[in-house]
Amino acid sequence: MKRTSLIKPVLDGVYPMISHGKGIYLYDTDGKEYLDGSSGAVTANIGHGVEEIRVAMDGQANKVSFVYRSQFTSEAAEGLATKIAEMTNGTYPWSFFVNSGSEATETALKIAVQHWQEKGKPKKNRVISRWMSYHGITLGALSMSGHPQRRERFTAMLESYPSISAPYCYRCPYNLELQECGFACAAELESAIRRTGPENVAAFIAEPVIGAAGAAISPPDGYFQELKRICEKYDVLFIADEVMTGFGRTGQILACSHWGVEPDIIAFGKGMSGGYTPIGAAVMTEKVIEPILKGSKSIMAGHTLSANPLSCAVSLAVLEYVEKNGLDKNASRSGIYLRNLLEKLSFRYPFIGNIRGKGLLIGIEFVKDIETKEPFPEEFDVTGKMISLAAENGLLLYPAAAGPEGVGGAAIIISPPLTITKREIEELIRRLNNTLYQFKEAIS
Ligand code: PLP
Repeated sequence: MKRTSLIKPVLDGVYPMISHGKGIYLYDTDGKEYLDGSSGAVTANIGHGVEEIRVAMDGQANKVSFVYRSQFTSEAAEGLATKIAEMTNGTYPWSFFVNSGSEATETALKIAVQHWQEKGKPKKNRVISRWMSYHGITLGALSMSGHPQRRERFTAMLESYPSISAPYCYRCPYNLELQECGFACAAELESAIRRTGPENVAAFIAEPVIGAAGAAISPPDGYFQELKRICEKYDVLFIADEVMTGFGRTGQILACSHWGVEPDIIAFGKGMSGGYTPIGAAVMTEKVIEPILKGSKSIMAGHTLSANPLSCAVSLAVLEYVEKNGLDKNASRSGIYLRNLLEKLSFRYPFIGNIRGKGLLIGIEFVKDIETKEPFPEEFDVTGKMISLAAENGLLLYPAAAGPEGVGGAAIIISPPLTITKREIEELIRRLNNTLYQFKEAIS
């Protein structure tokens, strides 16, 4: 078949063409089977080809697939907002639906800015974020992102927001041990707010577990509590980017719950629909919406396809599936099992420098020298080699950046669907072992 859709595989000319998927497996049109060890881009949380979702899609398509959000709401949109409120114990009763994670984080920032405007503080319009972060590809979301490779071409077009260090304990930016560091990287937030002037800062945004720009960096206990304390002290809203982590991926419905921290606004995407349809959301607390409800009564954001009934119905069915099958708990259990097997595997491969993450969001950072943590030279493209070898072995992995300031380090993310069974994890490990062995042979 002629290939003219402008996606990366077409430009490379080497990517296979998909035929279909079932459970944790995908099949290309040549009949090759791939174990989806990354859920695509950490998205296919409930696996592929789930019949309940097809039925929900069909049911909604039989009613209505599109209404314009300024003319109608729908049972699907209201049902989804209610489900999100329920799954977050009533803390986030208000949802604004968009179509992607980038739109969700950008909308979250706009909501934060509007919150302060309607409280009579229009100068509060800056956002602080972290190095080693990714909040999306659109210009606003990219401005908040500390992902050098993705920013590079567009730097001149980006807003320059203050950014602080990430809690990258494997290579602590302060060269300190956890017990003695006093969360120096979190304390940077206070300095950044003071330098910018608290009267100018609307929000601080962070991923609970850093994804693409850090390969599943999970912070130590106490870190997020400290950040939240600083935000509250200076009247700065805390936006959690749970686009990658939300709805069970890390073993909790919200990754922030691991540390008992309640963000003011949360951005969702990816696992919210498990990839079955494009959808994202910015959800907020009563405190955030209150001045808007008392003031203009309208959030100045949105897209033609916001709250699309078909997408909302599918997302609702996916979240019900997550709940009904306890997939957050399975992510926790399976994450421990997978992590243990990975740790055992690492003894055979000295280039595995660090294994980290939470639940079924696991990162592996590769190093040239395990003692000194010296990275492989960038031009060696370890991540690219690892991803291609794995694909040859029928295993899909997600490429991630790591290393100081997000530059230089080679890393992958392993994040299979949350439905994965013990036997399927063992199969994943078998294919990964073949990949690591071939890599070891290639470099020796
Ligand atoms: N935020 C995080 C944490 C992400 O991982 C991503 C995508 O990888 C985004 C935002 C952007 O989401 P999308 O690609 O759906 O626009």
